[in-house]
Amino acid sequence: MSDPAARRLEGRVAVVTGASRGIGRALARLIAAEGAHVVAVARTVGGLEELDDEIKAAGGSATLAPLDLADMAGIDRLGGAIAERWGRLDGLVANAGMLGVLSPIGHIEAKVFEKTFAVNVTATWRLIRAVDPLLRRSEAGRAVVLSSGAAHSCKAFWSLYAATKAACEALVRSWAHETDTLALRVNSVDPGATRTAMRKQAMPGEDPLTLPTAEDVAARILPLLFTEVTETGGLFNVRENRFTAYQKPA
Ligand code: NDP
Repeated sequence: MSDPAARRLEGRVAVVTGASRGIGRALARLIAAEGAHVVAVARTVGGLEELDDEIKAAGGSATLAPLDLADMAGIDRLGGAIAERWGRLDGLVANAGMLGVLSPIGHIEAKVFEKTFAVNVTATWRLIRAVDPLLRRSEAGRAVVLSSGAAHSCKAFWSLYAATKAACEALVRSWAHETDTLALRVNSVDPGATRTAMRKQAMPGEDPLTLPTAEDVAARILPLLFTEVTETGGLFNVRENRFTAYQKPA
């Protein structure tokens, strides 16, 4: 068990989506090790159960919430369940995402486009909508939404994924503007290339051992959930260790 004196999220409740593997699972473990109760969301029950075992072995606690984020009503029910049990939410990590397809824009199938937007964008909005009132009730609500460098580089064949991540950043910036007089702080994160299943799908020829692990990257994202955070609406680039502050509109 970690040193209670060092547990910087003691007594807090945090939702982590995409907690069955990759960056989300690593971050969920770290958040729990800091003393928060983690609500772990993903479709793969086996991955969630492994996470639960890891968290318990380290002296932490979690609630598993198996959910396909394409199920919008399910997201609303998740928000309702958190409201009923805790009456507030202290942390949100909107990490779940899918690559969709890397393809010339004219070759993307409509159903792939719609599914990728549903999971990456509509579900992120729906989750924000479901938990915004609960985060506002926290003394120091913190939200982190996973973006990507693709949102800005917009390389050939990356249009679908890039557009979803650009949309997520826009949601975060507007949300920050709506809430910047409150204790709530919301930020986007570009984790950079990370050794996960999604990166393998995008770059099958790449040697994964050349990339930072999900654990390395999660450790850099974790501080955005601490009460000390003052910035809101910004973008943290993990690879460059650079925080770009949000320029507040006039
Ligand atoms: P992984 O593919 O390893 O993990 C994705 C997670 O999202 C899984 O836990 C998966 O769970 C969950 N997920 C996907 N679809 C759904 C769904 N429909 N409903 C519920 N959960 C879902 O990805 P990474 O860890 O690499 O990526 C995490 C985030 O970081 C993503 O938003 C990604 O876009 C972003 N990112 C990653 C980079 C990288 O190099 N890895 C670079 C830049 C950004 P399950 O399948 O069990 O449902």
